[in-house]
Amino acid sequence: MAKKVLVSGGAGFIGSHIVDRLVRRNDMETLVIVDNFWTGLRENLAHVTDPRVHLVQADVETFATAEKFDEIIHLASPASPPWYMREPARTIKANLVGALNLVEMLNPGGRISFASTSEVYGDPLISPQPESYRGQVDCTGPRSSYDESKRCTESLLFELHRTAGIDIRIVRLFNVYGTRTRPDDGRAVSNFLSQALTTGELTIYGDGLQSRSWGYVDDIVSALERYFWLDNVDYCGPLNVGNDREIPVIDVARHIVSLVPGARLKLCPPIPQDPTNRRPDLTLCRKVLPGWEANITYEEGVRRTLEWFREAVVLKGAQTDAPSPVRLES
Ligand code: NAD
Ligand code: UDP
Repeated sequence: MAKKVLVSGGAGFIGSHIVDRLVRRNDMETLVIVDNFWTGLRENLAHVTDPRVHLVQADVETFATAEKFDEIIHLASPASPPWYMREPARTIKANLVGALNLVEMLNPGGRISFASTSEVYGDPLISPQPESYRGQVDCTGPRSSYDESKRCTESLLFELHRTAGIDIRIVRLFNVYGTRTRPDDGRAVSNFLSQALTTGELTIYGDGLQSRSWGYVDDIVSALERYFWLDNVDYCGPLNVGNDREIPVIDVARHIVSLVPGARLKLCPPIPQDPTNRRPDLTLCRKVLPGWEANITYEEGVRRTLEWFREAVVLKGAQTDAPSPVRLES
């Protein structure tokens, strides 16, 4: 039977790559994309001409339609700390109220997939982090609108699964980078690339020894399409998805400095409650998605992203002034 599919946040960085995978499907009747262009860009979808695709500009938490869907993929939420920290109530609404609204649009037997985050582990005390780790999150801290709304949306979906039998898929994504991140997004890799190509000063928050595990978008979206719709996976989640090569922020910046002549590091004050480390335990992921690996090396991923940023920033003159989560000296 041909499926009716809805994606929230489809004009965003990951969402637009998901849309590219969805339009390859021949079992899909319609694809409705709901996005309010808060952090997403219409141009991320400009190349999509498939007549089954309908782009609706709306807030996911108030979007209304008489249609019902067989599959819903809920991605609507900023992921960049300076963006979500500026509008915490809006971030909570996008995730949690958005999910509450979307589950009402499911056809009987329909499935909702949700992009949760490694932020549910907070500043982790164990490494790598398996899905069973309950995390170390401050529910009153500066990252809480994001961390806690992801945690609460996971709770909502698991409870609906338990009490109403709703089919769910929950992934916990670790840091993703790549083409179509907006040049003023403010996250590490994209910020460093934008800065290298403009001011030349790469802002390191704190000593730069805090680490993350950086997954290239094509690898991550390959795991998502298998988990959300391609493989007949009988596992609701939560499922860690990411690249388990952990690299300190300062090494990421130094690598980019080595690729762009004139680029240099600028040490800035630390961000309050910036997690010190993050690395996925992928044991479960490898069982659930046999054969899947994050194959694109960090060096290759950065090379591809740099090429894309050169075109966006240098040739097309995209806005690069990301909001900052710390006070920078002028
Ligand atoms: P993004 O900011 O590029 O995309 C988010 C999209 O959601 C944007 O198009 C934005 O306009 C839209 N949006 C936000 N609030 C909305 C609302 N209320 N109504 C409708 N649309 C709304 O972010 P991304 O990096 O593509 O992240 C996509 C999803 O993956 C998010 O849920 C994020 O939390 C999750 N995630 C991302 C990462 C990562 O490293 N990129 C890591 C963990 C989890
Ligand atoms: N970071 C940095 N300079 C920047 C942007 C980010 O030093 O210009 C650091 C940030 O403090 C954090 C890491 O890079 O320790 C990853 O930040 P990002 O915003 O990409 O993701 P998150 O903090 O959500 O993991």
